[in-house]
Amino acid sequence: MTGKINCDKCGRYPIFYRRPYEGIVLCRRCFKDSIERKVRRTISKYKMFSPTDHIGVAVSGGKDSLTLLYILRKIEEGYPEARITALAVDEGIKGYREEALRLAESFTAKLGVNLRTISFKELYGKTMDEMVNALGLRFPCSCCGVLRRKALIELASRIGVDKIATAHNLDDEAQTVILNLIHGDPLRILMTGPTLDGGGSFIKKVKPLFLIPEKEISLYAYLTGIPFQSRSCPYASTALRNDVRAMLNLVEEKHPGTLYTIVHSAEKLRQASSKLFPKRTMRCKLCGSPSTSEICSSCKILKDI
Ligand code: SF4
Ligand code: ZN
Ligand code: ZN
Repeated sequence: MTGKINCDKCGRYPIFYRRPYEGIVLCRRCFKDSIERKVRRTISKYKMFSPTDHIGVAVSGGKDSLTLLYILRKIEEGYPEARITALAVDEGIKGYREEALRLAESFTAKLGVNLRTISFKELYGKTMDEMVNALGLRFPCSCCGVLRRKALIELASRIGVDKIATAHNLDDEAQTVILNLIHGDPLRILMTGPTLDGGGSFIKKVKPLFLIPEKEISLYAYLTGIPFQSRSCPYASTALRNDVRAMLNLVEEKHPGTLYTIVHSAEKLRQASSKLFPKRTMRCKLCGSPSTSEICSSCKILKDI
C-alpha cells in the first residue's frame, strides 16, 4: 500500500477507506457504492423480497437501522409496487429511548416513510424500567431482546406487513453465533441466519445488512449524513454480548476476515442441517412461534411478568 494515493476501484479519487479483509483501498464514492451493491446482492442471493412486498423496517434510531431504512428506500424507488413502513418499539427506557424515537421520527419524515410505534407498556403492561425494578433483572438485555422481537412481530401483523427487515450487521451475527455456543444452545444457530421463515401465519424476517461490518455502516452513515443516536442504553453494560464484541474486535483487528468466517461457518452448518433434518423447526406449545424448546423464551418471560 506504500505510496498509493488513489482508489483501487476507479483509480481517480483519493483514498478514503482501507478495507483490510479484501486488501483494497477505496475513495468515498466507491466505498458508498460497494456498500449499496453488497446489500442489493445479499437481497437477491437470499431472495429476501418480492417486488410487491409491504416491507416493515425495524428502526431503533441507531445508525444501523437508519442506514438500512435509507438504503432500502433507495432500492424501493425501482419497485413502484413495493411499500415500506418503519416499525419502532418503545421499550420504556428513560433517558435513552425517547431521543432515539425522536431521531427515528424526524428521519422517517425526511424520507417520506410512514413510522408506526408499539410500546412494552401497551403490550405487556409494564415498561422495561418497571420490569427491571419489579423483577430485579440482573441481565435486562436477555428479557428486553426477546420481548422486543415479539413486539415487532405484533406490530407488523397489525399493519399487514409481508416481511420484517432488521438491521443486524456482520458483527451482530458473528457475536450471536459465539453467544449461542457460550449459552450452550448451539441449535439456536440453526434457527437464525439472514432469513427466518416464520412459516404459517408468522412473518418472514430478513437481514439485508448481515454481511456489512459495523464499522462500515458507521462510515456509510457519516458519509450520507444520516443522523443517529450515539448514547448507549443504560442497561447495555451488563450484557455478555459486550465482552464477546470486545473479544471478536480484537481477533478481527489481528486477523481480518474472522467475522466473515464465523458467519459463513454458521451458514454452512444451516445448509448441512437442512439437508439432514429438513423438518428441524420445533414450535412453542403456547404461542406456536419457532423455538428450540417446548415453550419459547418470550412465553417463559411473559409468565414471570
Ligand atoms: Fe434492550 Fe439491552 Fe438493547 Fe437496552 S441494550 S435496548 S436493554 S436489548
Ligand atoms: Zn473510487
Ligand atoms: Zn411461545
